Amino acid sequence: MALKTPEQYEESLRKMNFKIYLMGERVENPVDHPIIRPSMNSVKMTYALAQNPQHEDLMTATSHLTGKKINRFCHIHRNTEDLIKKVKMQRLMGQKTGACFQRCVGMDAINAVDSVAFEMDKKLGTKYHERFIKFLLMMQEEDLTVDGAMTDPKGDRSLSPGKQADPDLYTRVVDKRKDGIVVRGAKAHQTGALNSHWILVMPTMTMTKEDSDYALSFVAPADAEGILYIYGRQSCDTRKLEGGEIDVGNKQFGGHEALMVFDNLFVPWENVFMCGEYEYSGALVERFAGYHRQSYGGCKVGVGDVLIGAAALAADYNGAAKASHIKDKLIEMMHLNETLYACGIACSAEGHQTSSGNYLIDLLLANVCKQNVTRLPYEIARLAEDIAGGLMVTMASEQDLRHPEIGKIVEKYFKGVASVPTEHRCRVLRLIENITLGTAAVGYRTESMHGAGSPQAQRIMISRQGNLDHKKKLAKEIAGIKD
Ligand code: SF4
Ligand code: FE
Repeated sequence: MALKTPEQYEESLRKMNFKIYLMGERVENPVDHPIIRPSMNSVKMTYALAQNPQHEDLMTATSHLTGKKINRFCHIHRNTEDLIKKVKMQRLMGQKTGACFQRCVGMDAINAVDSVAFEMDKKLGTKYHERFIKFLLMMQEEDLTVDGAMTDPKGDRSLSPGKQADPDLYTRVVDKRKDGIVVRGAKAHQTGALNSHWILVMPTMTMTKEDSDYALSFVAPADAEGILYIYGRQSCDTRKLEGGEIDVGNKQFGGHEALMVFDNLFVPWENVFMCGEYEYSGALVERFAGYHRQSYGGCKVGVGDVLIGAAALAADYNGAAKASHIKDKLIEMMHLNETLYACGIACSAEGHQTSSGNYLIDLLLANVCKQNVTRLPYEIARLAEDIAGGLMVTMASEQDLRHPEIGKIVEKYFKGVASVPTEHRCRVLRLIENITLGTAAVGYRTESMHGAGSPQAQRIMISRQGNLDHKKKLAKEIAGIKD
């Protein structure tokens, strides 16, 4: 089975045995938990769209290992067309869910590990790539969702991993045995961890010789003994416990992040792809981050499409659609959103082949893409709020709208254009609230800032990749300066 149906995916999650805590309680059934379920629905959509002939070209690919049709989220990019299709797929997924659909972190992780493990084996004579390919075959064959895990908690930012008061603040190997390794530490902000079958752990940053215990990459079943999750809260998340459908803004879909804790997790050697080779930690981080910075040129654009559509609807329902300043604001939103898309496409089109045969994006352009994502969605959100009006945050609840007596008053005074039911106006304003301030704002706003690395991380990469010396040389030639 190289493609799971959405139902098979959901069933496979039910068989998992996660150790999860959410708001102080152990969650026994995450699949049906009202706070978690919408995030599962988003990942499920990656399986559903892959079955749809209309989206087959974007959602599926041909495995370079088996020649079989696989989900693109399990694919190793073979050319620039694959890189471009990846971004288009992410835009489509953002449009269909209006949320973070989580499965990209695993796709970006396998593509980063593929080339780095290959280079390690070539230089060091290790067997990491061989092991990785075995895992990849299983991932493709079983159509698995894999959670790429990079970000360590990091404690005191002024201290290196080994100098922390608590050495577990960075994920490390604490014991090397004949049959495998023992890992302690944690990964923070783990997108979609509880909707994943496996986790692929990578080092959080470039490590030095003294911190080689922290240069670590491996896979483990997401519900392995020795992994515990603490579910991250989101703004307005308890609205999902109310059972309604308007006030949540997006009833069906969402995303999630969790703290993933390794409490002496045992990993057999066959699942280890880096253990101490600190010289390769930087390349792995740089490539994973590069792929994920490319990803944002797709997913945020798709959610942006939903937000722009919602703002335009709000204007229609308010009777303001013909006002020239509203039209201009919608044009500006589209211009900003397409600018992000252009960055995602550009870094893909300028990609190149690595020594393992897979394709890597242009790192400079991928970092420019993400740097823009730290800014433009904020402006798009600001314009959406401008167009929506204050009612977006002062509107009465769904219970009041449905109330047998005061419902009529809500209906009467929250009415915009006479031909549009008040409920439609409520729904679209709540959707804008959800994306800009509610649960989806994690993905659309703060994640735009910090996901795939905070803005400064991209500026460092831009300074490294920007080739300033070449630009100086160009200026000297034109200006006739001879040293
Ligand atoms: Fe995918 Fe975007 Fe979510 Fe990252 S933030 S997992 S790229 S949807
Ligand atoms: Fe992300």
